[in-house]
Amino acid sequence: MSGSTLLKETGPREVFCGLTSIVWLHRRMPDAFFLVVGSRTCAHLIQSAAGVMIFAEPRFGTAILEERDLAGLADAHEELDRVVKNLLKRRPEIRTLFLVGSCPSEVIKIDLSRAAERLNSQFNGQVTVLNYSGSGIETTFTQGEDGALKALVPLLPSSKEEQLLLVGTLANPVEDRLKTIFKRLGIQKIESFPPRQSTQLPSIGPGTKVLLVQPYLTDTARELKNRGAEILQAPFPLGIDGSRLWIEAAANAFKVNQSLVESTLSPLILRAKKALKPYAEKLSGKKLFLLPESQLEIPLARFLNNECGMELIEVGVPYLNREMMQSELELLPDSTRIVEGQHVEKQLDRVRDSNPDLVVCGMGLANPLEAEGISTKWSIEMVFSPIHGIDQASDLAELFARPLHRHNILNPKTLETA
Ligand code: SF4
Repeated sequence: MSGSTLLKETGPREVFCGLTSIVWLHRRMPDAFFLVVGSRTCAHLIQSAAGVMIFAEPRFGTAILEERDLAGLADAHEELDRVVKNLLKRRPEIRTLFLVGSCPSEVIKIDLSRAAERLNSQFNGQVTVLNYSGSGIETTFTQGEDGALKALVPLLPSSKEEQLLLVGTLANPVEDRLKTIFKRLGIQKIESFPPRQSTQLPSIGPGTKVLLVQPYLTDTARELKNRGAEILQAPFPLGIDGSRLWIEAAANAFKVNQSLVESTLSPLILRAKKALKPYAEKLSGKKLFLLPESQLEIPLARFLNNECGMELIEVGVPYLNREMMQSELELLPDSTRIVEGQHVEKQLDRVRDSNPDLVVCGMGLANPLEAEGISTKWSIEMVFSPIHGIDQASDLAELFARPLHRHNILNPKTLETA
C-alpha cells in the first residue's frame, strides 16, 4: 500500500445518481432498452443528461409513478405490465429490457425483480427482462453500469475455454485497437463485456482471465469471480504507464514471451510519449483538485501526476474499493490526500483555500467555480470520451490542457504572465 492519506467525509453530496449510466449503456447495446421506474425527476434527469439524444429514437424511457401508484390505489405491477406490453408492441426489435429502479421505486418498495420474473414468463423468448437499481440512495453515477452488468452475469453461458475478457464499457474503436494489440501478443480469444449486442454475451468460467477496463465494477467483478473467472490485478488502462502495466498483466497471465511484449509495445510507447509531450509541458506544475463523481479519479490523478507532472491537492472519490485500487494506490505519490465521500460545502472551502489551477468536478459545480475564476473540467466527459490505451494518452491529457488554455485566452492577466 502506498503512503497515501485516506480520509472519509460525510455530508451533502453533489453527484449524479446511477441512472445517468443509461446514457452510455444504451449506445453500447443498441438492442437493449432501459425502462426507469421512477418519477418525473428521473425522467428530467435522463433527458437533460442525454441532451439531443432523446429525439433520435431513444432506447430508454421512464415509467412515471403517478400519485395513484404512490398512494397504493393502483396495482403498480399491473401498471408496469401494461407499460411494458405497449412498449414491446411499438418496439418489437428490443431483445433485452432493463427495469431500472429509482429512489421512488425503492422507497415504496416495488419489487422489480419479481416484475422481471413475471414479464420474462409472459414474453417468453421474445425479450429478456432484467432489473437493477440506479437510485440515488444506493448508487452514484458510474455504479449504474456496475448494476447493469451484474444483472447480466447470470445470463453468461459457462465455458472452461481459455480466454481474456475485457470488462467495462469501451468506445468501439478503442476496443478494436486493444483487441488488435492482444492478438499481436498471441492471445487468441478476447471478448468484451458488455458486448455490442445484448444477446451476444461472452462465456465465462475457470479459463477466463478478466481485465477490468473501468474502476467502478466492484459488484460485477465479484460475480464474475463467483462464476470461476480470475480477476487480474493491474492499474487501469489510462495513460501510457497504466495501459502498459494493464496489458502486461494479461501478457503475464497468458505467459507471453517478454521480448514479444516489449517489441509490440515499444513503438506504441515511443509514439505516445511524443504526442503527450506538448500537453505534459502545459500541465506540468499545475495544481489539480478532483471532486468525487465517477471513481475514475484515482487513475486520472495517477496519470496526471506521474506522466504530466501535475501537483495533486486532493483526490476525491465517491467510493473506494481498496482491493481493486491496490495497484493504482501503489503508483500514487506518497502522502496523496484521498478523500472518500463528500461534504460538498467543506470541500468547496478547501478548493477555494488551495487556489488550484484546475478542478475536475460535476456539471453542477463547474459553472459556479468558473464564475469564481477557477478553471474546471467536467468529469462526465471522461465516461464519454475514448480515453483508454497507450494511443489515447495524449487525447486524455488534452482534455485537461484545454480548459487551462481557454482560461489563459479569456484571462488577459494570466496571459501576460503565461
Ligand atoms: S433515481 Fe433518485 S436521484 Fe436519480 S433522478 Fe430519480 S429521484 Fe433523482
